[in-house]
Amino acid sequence: MKNSKYKITIGLEVHAHLKTQTKLFCRCPNRTGAEPNTLICPVCTGQPGTLPVAGEESVLQAVRAALALNCKINKYSVFERKQYFYPDLPKNYQISQYKLPLAENGYIEAGGVKIKIDRVHMEEDAGKLVHRKSETLIDYNRGGAPLIEIVSAPEITSPEQASEYLKKLRQILVYSSVSDCDMEKGSMRCDANLSLNLKESSRLGVKTEVKNMNSFKAVENALSYEARRQEELLLEGKKIDQETRLWDENNNRTAGMRSKEEAHDYRYFPDPDLPPLVVQETVVEEIRKSLPELPASKIERYMGEMGIGEYDARVLCQEKEGAEFFENAYSKLEDKKKGVKKLSSWINTELKGKMNTEGMDFKNIQLDPGSLAELVNLIQSGKISGKMAKDIFEIMWNEKKCPQEIVEKRGLSQISGEDKIEGLCRRAIEENPGLAEKYLTGKEGTIGPLVGFVMKETRGQANPSMVNKKLRQILDGKK
Ligand code: ZN
Ligand code: MN
Repeated sequence: MKNSKYKITIGLEVHAHLKTQTKLFCRCPNRTGAEPNTLICPVCTGQPGTLPVAGEESVLQAVRAALALNCKINKYSVFERKQYFYPDLPKNYQISQYKLPLAENGYIEAGGVKIKIDRVHMEEDAGKLVHRKSETLIDYNRGGAPLIEIVSAPEITSPEQASEYLKKLRQILVYSSVSDCDMEKGSMRCDANLSLNLKESSRLGVKTEVKNMNSFKAVENALSYEARRQEELLLEGKKIDQETRLWDENNNRTAGMRSKEEAHDYRYFPDPDLPPLVVQETVVEEIRKSLPELPASKIERYMGEMGIGEYDARVLCQEKEGAEFFENAYSKLEDKKKGVKKLSSWINTELKGKMNTEGMDFKNIQLDPGSLAELVNLIQSGKISGKMAKDIFEIMWNEKKCPQEIVEKRGLSQISGEDKIEGLCRRAIEENPGLAEKYLTGKEGTIGPLVGFVMKETRGQANPSMVNKKLRQILDGKK
């Protein structure tokens, strides 16, 4: 879309599953992985004569999410019926919110830009269709599970920014413990609408909605495809049909599914079975106080208080557990000011590299943050070299031992005794007369191989800068 005469406008609707014990309007367990149709009751299967009752836990979680997204919570909100006929929805309507949503007017910062969130509302999930060759089965376990729908303003201007927005959104919801937001498992789903209009025009073009993307990359690819498709049509002078299109991951294209419903197709009206939802100010304030420190302010604090660079701070804060690991280790550093950079680079490169290759995350690693701090302390105090630290880290990882113990047991500590270093250097000179000779005739570069000799002899345990200094001292004395 570079050099195009059109600009892109994207709005995102994200559904996120709330982490709760029970479903939204009944007391069935809210969890996945159970045998089909074992977590159901007359309410969530829409039997006649049953009455829904909104669960407090779901409401509190939704408020928590909305606050983390900087929204204003509405004291009164209303559950409405959204009618449509589909086998995964046994009542023939979904209980959702329409005119008066739970929360409005929030924002997310993505890529340095504030993107407005129009609304966050609560609704129930539908069941799941399982398609087989000649039949379709329905699992109602998911029916009635609590969802929040987060609707962005149409302010996103590129597929990359859309994916950035989603990553931030997921990060915030996961940090606040309201959702797992796993796109592959369906606990976070995204519908995107996209339209093009002329760069100089302020009127939005006809939009299409794209569904069925189950990763951030898929959202980006689908939107890029859709932008190109619309541009081609417009350049040919054709019209864009307002429709819902499905992303076809295997063929890397979107395909028309149905013409897009308008709000009036759903015949929304307030659910007479449910009273308006009232959220008291005191409850809102209590939840606001209980929110954890969110990534944006963490990053700022790491940069300001601890002097960490922006990039490193961002990487440290990617996941809440990672940030907790770092903070825990940081508190055990002997020299915080000098050690913090080393600590953050150990976490961001060595530790995360190891976790990646072994397919682990901060929730299941066995490594104790205190041990990593101890390792950094040992490097800082000169007791071990950086190279030795890497070997010790391997052992820490595999044998779950603390570094001090490893150093003592294996006699690994760095050789930095003056006498010992001197003896080693004298031997290096004796055994490499050629190199020493060259140094004395002015070729100082031969100091490198001499240091290398000592390091090899000591299996890396000698302090290299001391060896360098001592070798020069001895040789210079012979001049
Ligand atoms: Zn139920
Ligand atoms: Mn919805």
